[in-house]
Amino acid sequence: MLFVCDLHVHIGRASTGEAVKITGARDLTFENIAKEAAERKGIDIVAVIDCASPPVIADIETCLASGEMEEIAGGGLRYRDQVTMILGAEIETREKTGGMSHHLSYFRTLQQLKQFSDTLSQYVTNINLSSQACGLTARELFTVADDCGAFFIPAHCFTPHKSLYGACTDSMTAIFGDAWQKIPAIELGLSADAYLADRIAELADKSLLANSDAHSLPRIGREYNLLEMESASYDELLMALWRQERRHVAANFGLDPRLGKYHRTYCEACGHIAAGEPPVQICERCGSHNITRGVLDRIVQIADYDEPRQPSHRGPYQYQVPLQFVPGVGTVTLNRLINRFGSEMAVLHQATREELGQTVGQKAAELIIQAREGTLPLQAGGGGRYGRALTEKDTGQMSLPGIY
Ligand SMILES: [Zn+2]
Ligand SMILES: [Zn+2]
Repeated sequence: MLFVCDLHVHIGRASTGEAVKITGARDLTFENIAKEAAERKGIDIVAVIDCASPPVIADIETCLASGEMEEIAGGGLRYRDQVTMILGAEIETREKTGGMSHHLSYFRTLQQLKQFSDTLSQYVTNINLSSQACGLTARELFTVADDCGAFFIPAHCFTPHKSLYGACTDSMTAIFGDAWQKIPAIELGLSADAYLADRIAELADKSLLANSDAHSLPRIGREYNLLEMESASYDELLMALWRQERRHVAANFGLDPRLGKYHRTYCEACGHIAAGEPPVQICERCGSHNITRGVLDRIVQIADYDEPRQPSHRGPYQYQVPLQFVPGVGTVTLNRLINRFGSEMAVLHQATREELGQTVGQKAAELIIQAREGTLPLQAGGGGRYGRALTEKDTGQMSLPGIY
């Protein structure tokens, strides 16, 4: 059976109103994430990666006590028989060289999560907050997570400021040593895709994950993975990442990497987003060295191969343009679509052109079909600015930098 899994969703606030991720939405609580996944998104497994925060642990305990959720035998929490919630934690590490990176640890039980939270509280200044710096290296954090029985995945591993390839190293093996063999997967991040990752030799036997890194409810599922498993549980998820007994990652669904915030090198001096042959290391327009390196530019720099070499176990990476990126799809249109088709997944992948046209008009329907087929013209993002789908107005002037 195939299951839709998004394994990187933040928490904005605890239900008490206490901040967990300051830049996250106020209504992004543990329970609301489960509700959104069940009622609007059509997602089977959601991993919440701010669960080591004690106010969030309190919320999880409330959900269990009320009977709204229950711990299941295979690991994870079941919500209304619809969604499996996986408990996770994103933590920031620092290498001796100074580079910082983010990592995701996933826990089978609430007990393991609490043990991790207790241990981590010795290292971070404020355990209540999301993605805190712990002062450990990635290798050291791996051991802490491993000791709690968690599995461990380097997060958005090419992004410029807080990731292993983006800010710390050319080689995961150099960072993790023997422990690299105990890491089942890496997270691509919004600005990369499987084809780019498959230009790096040491990633060939890792599963690849495309997750939303959502900071608000509507962004849950903007990237996700389709996993072949027997049921929606922690144990099955881990077997799928290790490709055991026919479980595996069947496909990734992600943004065209040009829509990500860090796809190309960005000039901090003049605001130019690189458009030329990667790797761009100096601003093409003003010559400044003060740049934020793009994910594409970084991957080209460290690639072992000029062309992707897909291992035989790799499923397809399907581009999808989340509905919020489609020009002309505002809140009203989005709600009308979800009411008619049941979930965003159904709108994006199942609704026919005719059905879409009847619901929101031919013009919007056409754009949604183009988004599905990957034919919407896009302008690449960089330096923390999302790429975007171009409208008719823009495409009149195709010489704009960054369009390709
Ligand atoms: Zn992160
Ligand atoms: Zn410049």
